[in-house]
Amino acid sequence: MGNLYRFKVALKYRKGLWRVIEIKGGQTLGEFDRSIREAFDHDMGDHLSEFYRGRVWRSQGYGEIYPGGRGEGGRLKIDALGLSEGDKFEYVYDFGDDVQHIITLEKVLGEEDTQGKYPRVISKNRPRHKYCVNCESLGKKTIATLVCVDCSDRTSKPVFLCEECMEKKHEEHNIDDMVY
Ligand SMILES: [Zn+2]
Ligand SMILES: [Zn+2]
Repeated sequence: MGNLYRFKVALKYRKGLWRVIEIKGGQTLGEFDRSIREAFDHDMGDHLSEFYRGRVWRSQGYGEIYPGGRGEGGRLKIDALGLSEGDKFEYVYDFGDDVQHIITLEKVLGEEDTQGKYPRVISKNRPRHKYCVNCESLGKKTIATLVCVDCSDRTSKPVFLCEECMEKKHEEHNIDDMVY
């Protein structure tokens, strides 16, 4: 009988954004990578990613993973990581944007607990919506679906936007989808 691992994956700089993912011990980091990309709406067909034994950039990495789970870092099986409950390690998606995640092993279950396809997301944070900063300045509350990367960088705080305000003022800017 194999192991079933339950991991909590949270964005390092937005800890309220998390997913709990279960994956079998015989599955690979490449499969784990794909489920994280999907769960956090990261691009599936672009950018490198990597799991680290400890902190991103400061500890030893398991090797780069290319889109689709290919690459040296994607081959390792979850069982081979030698993890115990409570262990933490990290994951970075896109070396340029540097989206860091903290992964905690919450529980090791038995394969008798499995049902259906793995890896799978079994729970996620309740969405705490952000509002469009432009609408807010006009006294309106509109749920933001986008974030302007350029303006956020320039002002050092997140510039959340609705579709309409993005089209009016930020069309030439680098825009990302909001993840809740
Ligand atoms: Zn707006
Ligand atoms: Zn902008």
